[in-house]
Amino acid sequence: MEFMQAGVSIVSPFVNLFGNYLWNAGPRLTDRDGVPFLSDYLPEGLTVQSVIDEKQRHFPFSSSDISRYVEIGIQSAINEGRGTDDGGVYLDFIDCDFDRILADRTSSIARMWPLTYDWYKERGTHLYRDKVQIACSAHAINGGLRIDPDAQSNIRGLFAAGEVAAGPHGADRLGGNMSVTCQVFGARAGRKAAELAREHGHLDIPNLFDEQAAFLARLPGHGSEPLPELRRSLQMVANRHLLILRDGKGLEALRSSATAIRDTVLSAGRIETPQDRINAIELINMCEVADIMAMAALERAESRGSHYRTDLPESDDSQDTNIIIDRTAPNSFFCARLGELG
Ligand SMILES: Cc1cc2nc3c(=O)[nH]c(=O)nc-3n(C[C@H](O)[C@H](O)[C@H](O)COP(=O)(O)OP(=O)(O)OC[C@H]3O[C@@H](n4cnc5c(N)ncnc54)[C@H](O)[C@@H]3O)c2cc1C
Repeated sequence: MEFMQAGVSIVSPFVNLFGNYLWNAGPRLTDRDGVPFLSDYLPEGLTVQSVIDEKQRHFPFSSSDISRYVEIGIQSAINEGRGTDDGGVYLDFIDCDFDRILADRTSSIARMWPLTYDWYKERGTHLYRDKVQIACSAHAINGGLRIDPDAQSNIRGLFAAGEVAAGPHGADRLGGNMSVTCQVFGARAGRKAAELAREHGHLDIPNLFDEQAAFLARLPGHGSEPLPELRRSLQMVANRHLLILRDGKGLEALRSSATAIRDTVLSAGRIETPQDRINAIELINMCEVADIMAMAALERAESRGSHYRTDLPESDDSQDTNIIIDRTAPNSFFCARLGELG
């Protein structure tokens, strides 16, 4: 659960992924005051040009090459208060020499630029003269439930296919592979579930409703704490401590916040409508996922692929294995340990 694909996205004036081929143009990054910031976060010997050149090769953030300093720089600037009011930093192509950049007609940027330029223009942004705001964003989780080749979890009859399942990806996920994973394991899960259903028939539905009612009874819902604000505070703390820059102290802080927010939803959340009830359940789940991810990220005392620890920036060969979250561990709701998926 510590491995999550993240990358650079546009956050204003609209939300969209930032295609990695666009780094080929050498855009300028500036903070809220218009000051270039990337060089402030580079180690000695690296140049802004060299890390941006590397960034064109792949979209996802990875600690495994120097392109990481693009996301590290963006997230550091935002964490240090240099971001815009919309939570991003500025990016522009204003001084880029497009005659030179587009001269090689076989390059990705030469092929994609006309399409990209028109697409932005239709949305009111002229890339030759306007700035956009970018930030780091979560894209897809690489971890999830442990499944067998039929997509069945260790609870017989409970299947997991797609992003909710772990296994096919590692510390870095190959771009484009998640849709394939959904289809392959979705088909396998469907076949196996049909086979089991033929053998066993269906569960007694009224029992499920009883369980649901018991769960919903845990949400009294007469509190005064607005759910959107609680959700926003979880997102803020996860953005700061989990998305790109992780360290022991920050991950512990995230765990405490996630637990506190979950407890507040349960004890004092303002739940007035059926939609609020759904939102409350979703927020509780988000808190639990944040806690599990932070726990796994704490257990992985190294940097590897999409998992980057500022306090442990090197990878450690002895940790070249999975982290398994165990709900049955004694004295613990969850426990993370190194191990093989098997
Ligand atoms: C911007 C972006 C671009 C991407 N581009 C690519 C790409 O180019 N190639 C690629 O392979 N992958 C890409 N991905 C990743 C890929 O799209 C996702 O991993 C994939 O769509 C996940 O599909 P899923 O069915 O597993 O999960 P989801 O699409 O998240 O579906 C889960 C569904 O379950 C529903 N649900 C949740 N809880 C409950 C509940 N309690 N009861 C009932 N329903 C529930 C949700 O509402 C949702 O509809 C991209 C992701 C993003 C965000």
